[in-house]
Amino acid sequence: MRKFVCTVCGYVYDEAEGDLDSGLAPGTKWEDVPGSWTCPLCGVTKDDFEEQVD
Ligand SMILES: [Zn+2]
Repeated sequence: MRKFVCTVCGYVYDEAEGDLDSGLAPGTKWEDVPGSWTCPLCGVTKDDFEEQVD
């Protein structure tokens, strides 16, 4: 599982957790997140996220 961070507000999308508020079940891989999905905090699209490297 990977994590992707919003470069605008710092929200982290965790594949292991998904985004239940947007109907994304835990385990939803980033490539399976629809292009229409937006950051729950600031509203930007996937284009403004980058993979979080530990
Ligand atoms: Zn954001």
